Amino acid sequence: MKGMQQLLESGSSVLDHVSLPMMLTAKDATVLWWNEVAERTFGYSADEIIGKFYPFKDEERSAIDPSTWNQVLNSNESIRFANFILPSKQGESFHTSAVLNSMAIGKEQYVMFAFEVDNIQRKDQTKIEQELASFKVGLEETFMVTYLDKDGLITYANPLFLKSSKWTPKRVIGKTFWQLFPEESAETLVNQIWYELQSNRVWQGSVEKLTKDGETYWVDMTAIPVLTTSDDPIYFTILEKDITEKKRLQMHLEQIAYVDPETGLMNRHRLENIVSSLIAEQRHFSFIFLDIDKFYTLKDMHDEESETTLLLEFAKRLKMYFQDSDIARVGEDEFVVLTPLSDWFIQGFLSYLKQHPIYIRNKAIPISISGGITRFPEDQSTFSHLMKASKATIYKVKQEGGGNIVSLSKANHVALSKKAMIEKRLIEALHQKDLSVMYQPQVDLSTGKIDAVEALVRWEDAVLGTVSPNELIPIAEETGMIHDIGSFMLEKACEQAAKWAKSGNPMKVSVNSSIREFRDKNMVKKIRQTLEKFDCPAHLLQIEITEKFALEAESEQSIIRQMLQLQADGIVFVLDDFGTGYASFRYMQLLPITELKIDQSFISGILKQEKLQKLVYGMIQFGKSMKIRVLAEGVETKEQYDLLNKLGCDAIQGFFVSHPVAASEIEKL
Ligand code: C2E
Ligand code: CA
Ligand code: CA
Repeated sequence: MKGMQQLLESGSSVLDHVSLPMMLTAKDATVLWWNEVAERTFGYSADEIIGKFYPFKDEERSAIDPSTWNQVLNSNESIRFANFILPSKQGESFHTSAVLNSMAIGKEQYVMFAFEVDNIQRKDQTKIEQELASFKVGLEETFMVTYLDKDGLITYANPLFLKSSKWTPKRVIGKTFWQLFPEESAETLVNQIWYELQSNRVWQGSVEKLTKDGETYWVDMTAIPVLTTSDDPIYFTILEKDITEKKRLQMHLEQIAYVDPETGLMNRHRLENIVSSLIAEQRHFSFIFLDIDKFYTLKDMHDEESETTLLLEFAKRLKMYFQDSDIARVGEDEFVVLTPLSDWFIQGFLSYLKQHPIYIRNKAIPISISGGITRFPEDQSTFSHLMKASKATIYKVKQEGGGNIVSLSKANHVALSKKAMIEKRLIEALHQKDLSVMYQPQVDLSTGKIDAVEALVRWEDAVLGTVSPNELIPIAEETGMIHDIGSFMLEKACEQAAKWAKSGNPMKVSVNSSIREFRDKNMVKKIRQTLEKFDCPAHLLQIEITEKFALEAESEQSIIRQMLQLQADGIVFVLDDFGTGYASFRYMQLLPITELKIDQSFISGILKQEKLQKLVYGMIQFGKSMKIRVLAEGVETKEQYDLLNKLGCDAIQGFFVSHPVAASEIEKL
């Protein structure tokens, strides 16, 4: 030791002129000597340093681990350490390399450090780095901080992050960014964040994340791409603040604000919002106000438990019957349903209730309801007026003994018996051939040409006015008149298809068909005869069946047989309204289906709802995998058209191309 001291004293003047920061330590790493440049560079004076451990020993990021230190001690050559990060007294970090030289003088061993800090740069950098350093300290104390490398692997996580996420550093380092999120969002949202970062943009927003134990928590996240020097790869800093409590409170408030706690239906406040937006969009709908009539049996067993059961069971039946409608509870035993469906369907709820009685303590409760139907826009045009008018109707119903659902609309006084009227008038219409056909074109996206049309029935009655197919077809199915409508449509379709083919513009014509028509054992014969009658090639005829049809056909061998025979003739079967009901892979294999039509309910929201977009994409992929052509229905805008084209859809039908029009209009198109 003595020898060294002397050596240093005599040599210090020389060494002090070396322009590099230098340090000499003993074998145990206590500092013995610290030159002037080191003092200037790192801010520690020699007095502060000498006799202590060298200041970097304990610093995690730059620590030389014991085995490496031994290697240094045992080596005769100098060893260079790249990527050393040294903190100065002021808290700045120096990126440097260091050359370590071990030497033995007498019995003692020493290590000489020479740091290769870029002095010239240092002067300008100091201030910036100092600022950055204090920024960093501030951020680390305020936010959860993680760093990601260019591949999205986590390279650093601060204590706040570890606390919220319950990860340990050992486990989380090396995990991917994606692994910190619930699976559902990992694909879409996280990819979006990643895309922003890759494009060198900051991303900001609230996201749901997963702790190590799989629990979710919410954070406000700011993700920042950090550019370093040109040789260093970019990395990403993720700053987060836990907002779980705030989010929970918000969701709780939303619940209170929108949901009826007893039944889980929407509450009056939410209903009002929905009605207002329907009105703003000028959407036609029926506002049905329903009130449970109190019967003596109910009063007899008036206890809270049965009351609750009754409410819940009633709400369940509403949901079952009015499947896709908005349903709200607006009072003790008052409910509102919004639906575009017709009055006779709404009134059918009464018999549905009879068929599905509510049991309390094993006793069927004879429950009766009174209801009032008010229409927007025909009857009333604001939420409060719809409410008032419906209540007034109910009052009358109750006075007459309850147990009925009545429509306010004057026009609809007729409608109470409209179903009966339709039945009667339809017989005449069929007689006089008062029905007509409109054709809606379908565009093949690979050619951009109209290659097929769908034939849709139209009925303009002198007394009833226009009767929409949605009203007509169910009644016709019920009464059996669907056979006549079907034959009429088939004749028209074959006649038209043959005409177009002869004029050199062959066009496929698609007709809708009901399962009831196929229960007719003569269906194959009937279709063959019609084709023959008009000299129409079979491959120009397409038959659309619905999922409900497919489901039933699956269990009826004779229907499948007929379909296969027709397919052998060249007739194409199309699965209509795909996705609305019973989609089953089984019947897709059983039935000879060569095209599917994605229902318009998926298309109408496709631009706004990512979920729908995914669903539609899935359907298209499904079609491709089954070698089934996929057509999208109800395409109303160019944006929808473009998106569907991009998603790989084969064909398009909808108002964007054309409304259903007369045959002569098709020729013009
Ligand atoms: P569908 O088979 O799904 O026919 C498509 C319906 O959507 C047609 O209504 C058509 O006018 C309408 N539509 C077409 N493009 C658009 C669009 O871009 N936006 C919107 N919002 N709607 C669009 P339509 O003619 O009222 O027919 C209703 C339903 O009645 C048909 O639904 C079909 O199930 C049934 N139908 C119609 N004609 C016949 C028929 O001759 N026989 C049988 N069995 N059913 C028929
Ligand atoms: Ca159809
Ligand atoms: Ca359809």
